[in-house]
Amino acid sequence: MEQGFIQKAYGNIVMLEIPSFNRSGLVKHGFSTRNGGAGKNPYNTLNLACHVGDYPETVIKNRQEVCRALEAEIEQMVTAQQVHSSVIRVVGQEHAGAGAFSYDTALPDTDGLVTNVPGVLLATFYADCVPLFIMDPVKRVIASVHAGWKGTLSGIGAEALKKMAQVFGSNPRDCLAGIGPAIGRCCYEVDVMVSDRFRHQYDWCEQVLNPGADGRVRLDLPAANRNILVQAGIRSDNVEMSHICTSCNQDMLFSYRGSQGVTGRMGAFIMLRK
Ligand SMILES: [Zn+2]
Repeated sequence: MEQGFIQKAYGNIVMLEIPSFNRSGLVKHGFSTRNGGAGKNPYNTLNLACHVGDYPETVIKNRQEVCRALEAEIEQMVTAQQVHSSVIRVVGQEHAGAGAFSYDTALPDTDGLVTNVPGVLLATFYADCVPLFIMDPVKRVIASVHAGWKGTLSGIGAEALKKMAQVFGSNPRDCLAGIGPAIGRCCYEVDVMVSDRFRHQYDWCEQVLNPGADGRVRLDLPAANRNILVQAGIRSDNVEMSHICTSCNQDMLFSYRGSQGVTGRMGAFIMLRK
């Protein structure tokens, strides 16, 4: 598979990792696949989200397996409720465990997490939406950001960089980013309402909107997020893309659209090493 992310196996768990993040030596991170774990159809087998109808004890067991692979503790995991907002929350040790064992305790009204605290494991969950990994190796700050079409429209990746600059003095020129597996331009059809909103929002919209003969338009959400990050100051060389479409690779990944809405979620995880 052609990609900027690399596959790594930890027992039965297969993670996709960003080479530049590994080279930094500062973080543990990865995007999980559906391989490994104990889930039954349609959550087979490594579903990591508590809010999609899977057995909670299976999800927690799966999360524990991933934490083992990352050499992290589930009690240090922080999750967000992911409501397609553009809200970025700075979290610290006091948030450790939020949403680790249930959706109810995840941080409400939040789609992006930022921290500079080593050992705190940022976790966000996906089936088609775009996972953004950001790290500042200079100030030692990390972010995990969930960007669906609404988050992309409101530039949530740029919001994360803004928050990192405001709170920790991060310079986007120093930052590295990774854009993980998401539904690709091959599969992601959007209606006129969505495509028009992108046309009004971004002057580069034609780069990411692909009109088909059927009158339907396909949107390249990963590329849109790349543009947003670069526009916000990240060097384009520092943005790694996975180029893997969730809907085209359902043997390996969960896809919400590809499964008509009932399926599991992968996780994007990042933690500063202690
Ligand atoms: Zn596809």
